[in-house]
Amino acid sequence: RKRCFRISTGSKQWDSILLGGFQSGSISEVFGEFRCGKTQLAHTLAVMAQMPKDRGGAEGKVAWIDTEGTHRPERIMQIAERFGLDPHTTIENILCVRAENSDMQHEVLCQLAEYFVTGEYRLLIVDSLMALFRVDYIGRGELNERQQKLNQHLSKLCKTAEEFNIAVFMTNQVQSDPGASALFAGADGRKPVGGHVVAHASTTRILLRKGRGEERVAKIQDSPDCPEREATYIITTGGIND
Ligand code: ATP
Ligand code: MG
Repeated sequence: RKRCFRISTGSKQWDSILLGGFQSGSISEVFGEFRCGKTQLAHTLAVMAQMPKDRGGAEGKVAWIDTEGTHRPERIMQIAERFGLDPHTTIENILCVRAENSDMQHEVLCQLAEYFVTGEYRLLIVDSLMALFRVDYIGRGELNERQQKLNQHLSKLCKTAEEFNIAVFMTNQVQSDPGASALFAGADGRKPVGGHVVAHASTTRILLRKGRGEERVAKIQDSPDCPEREATYIITTGGIND
């Protein structure tokens, strides 16, 4: 059995509620409204995954499926500098592929296996899971087909995490009408999109929201081994921080 590891988030509070960071061998999902730091956290993790193990890293390469065109090498370089890593090497260790539609998103994932067999990769980022599926399948009539394709994609993500002992980190959006979703989403009134298919695939689910001023709040909603605690964090030039 392969040894599980955790990738630090760059924030002490985050790491504390996650018992060290995001876990390998399964899927973790962060969801929340726009600008709460999902993509910034992805950038931070892409750097942290390369750090030495005794500093919370996994000493490995990173694959990134970018569905919204929001991956920024410049941000990676800035975050690498904060942690004393060589910015250019850090960028070279991130294999980022832009997916233009949901079929391509799945194809890219299948093709990545070729890279994962080398054993060098420790983290796979999907930012974001649902954006392309929501564009490609519109309306009630296409919902069944969408969920089927989505399920295939998530199964493959699960298998990838387990087979190669990689941490899969994906971001997700929230339903745009918090009033309506509050009826079945609890006190926060925010529900990730994608329904039970996504809920079933995500081993760890974390809600992000805006707090006071520049503060953001992360709350664990579902986890096999972490209690439902909150962490506050900020977004800095050097990535996610306390
Ligand atoms: P979306 O749902 O739109 O994808 P998101 O949750 O991915 O949103 P991010 O793009 O991660 O949001 O976060 C955007 C926030 O990060 C903005 O508030 C922005 O000000 C902040 N930010 C971006 N770059 C920096 C930086 N260099 N220094 C400080 N804050 C930054
Ligand atoms: Mg984003």
